[in-house]
Amino acid sequence: MGKTSAGTTAFGRLHKKSTHKVCRRCGRRSFNIRKKYCAACGFGRSPRIRRYSWQNKKLQRTVRVV
Ligand SMILES: [Zn+2]
Repeated sequence: MGKTSAGTTAFGRLHKKSTHKVCRRCGRRSFNIRKKYCAACGFGRSPRIRRYSWQNKKLQRTVRVV
């Protein structure tokens, strides 16, 4: 590395497109833009909220961040 550490290694962080944006239904940043559905609550995939007993993170139906 040495001289080039500020160049090549730093470029790895560029060109990163975010795959998830804030979900309109659960408020988490889990809405997959390319697949068009939310990984957390299933918004865009199913009309029902995706819920599992083993999940401990709360999905907030009421929170709306647009
Ligand atoms: Zn969601």
